[in-house]
Amino acid sequence: MAALVFAEIAGGRLGPSVRNALAAAARCAEQVDVVLVGNAIDDAVAEAALLPRCRTVFAFDGAFVAEGSVEDIEPSLLSLVRDYTHLVAASSTLTRALFPRLAAILGVAMASDVIEVTAPHEFVRPLYAGNALASVELTDPLKVLTVRVTAFDPVSGRGNAQVVRHPAIEPARRRSTVRVEPAAATTRPDLSAARVVVAAGRGLKSASDFPLVERLADLLGGAVAASRPLVDLGYIGAEHQVGQTGKIVAPELYIAAGVSGQIQHIAGMKDSKVIVAINSDPDAPIFQYASYGLVGNMYEQIPALCDAIERLASSS
Ligand SMILES: Cc1cc2nc3c(=O)[nH]c(=O)nc-3n(C[C@H](O)[C@H](O)[C@H](O)COP(=O)(O)OP(=O)(O)OC[C@H]3O[C@@H](n4cnc5c(N)ncnc54)[C@H](O)[C@@H]3O)c2cc1C
Repeated sequence: MAALVFAEIAGGRLGPSVRNALAAAARCAEQVDVVLVGNAIDDAVAEAALLPRCRTVFAFDGAFVAEGSVEDIEPSLLSLVRDYTHLVAASSTLTRALFPRLAAILGVAMASDVIEVTAPHEFVRPLYAGNALASVELTDPLKVLTVRVTAFDPVSGRGNAQVVRHPAIEPARRRSTVRVEPAAATTRPDLSAARVVVAAGRGLKSASDFPLVERLADLLGGAVAASRPLVDLGYIGAEHQVGQTGKIVAPELYIAAGVSGQIQHIAGMKDSKVIVAINSDPDAPIFQYASYGLVGNMYEQIPALCDAIERLASSS
């Protein structure tokens, strides 16, 4: 058995979640290869060649490949998959679009958002926003799966994979174009990888109040997140949304301020190690999930918390 891991490229660099996908792939097959498709990807290929557990890196490079375009990536991937028993990637906005499409073209079933590999053909995945777990058996010769990053510890260490380069294969026709808008520059950690996340919910009354949560995030070296209504209201970009239709995170500390705790939000953060809820309603559902709860007005509690952290920092 051999697994092919699709590695995403972001801003010319290898996305860190490939290491989690590699961990899942190594549970499916003895041999694991990695494939990258992009434009001017030398830096990402050099990073991929050092990945542990990886035998060969296939690099498809083409000037036409727009980052995030499933149509541009698809033909190169399809040219490789027939040699494999598994096609694996980390769940992401891109692979949510790309992998079902590949499975449909190949006429095979897929399992998305896998959280456990129980056997090379058997996988566990959440249903109903994480309220039920399904054990899924894939019986096709090629098993297509995306894996939840937070469920697999990243492989660590350094390898020395062989690199095989190909020109990227251009799609016969294109139905879509991708417009990439660079995210605002920030010194905060990436939400998916942050050890601390401070999330605001609709308890935050206006976009101009975000400095309230940003101050706490910065004091803790954390990322800023939001519930979906704040994204829908345009208070903050969609890349900050946590939940069923946003990002799934599992930081060491997740602070949810003014978040009620609806199941669609919980689905994105319930695996966090420590959850702190700040909410003015003592009956808010979020408290059922919280390790620590603070009942009160976030506009008073967060500044008090920040002041206390600053006092602690200056006295130590
Ligand atoms: C298909 C589908 C997918 C969805 N996907 C997502 C998703 O990915 N992520 C997501 O977040 N939601 C998602 N939702 C929306 C979800 O159902 C909830 O509507 C949303 O999570 C509620 O956000 P909230 O907790 O910020 O707002 P609310 O539910 O309005 O809660 C606001 C909370 O703030 C508290 N509060 C108010 N003022 C203060 C104050 N001054 N200080 C402290 N607390 C205060 C209130 O007591 C309340 O508990 C989805 C919904 C659907 C149908």
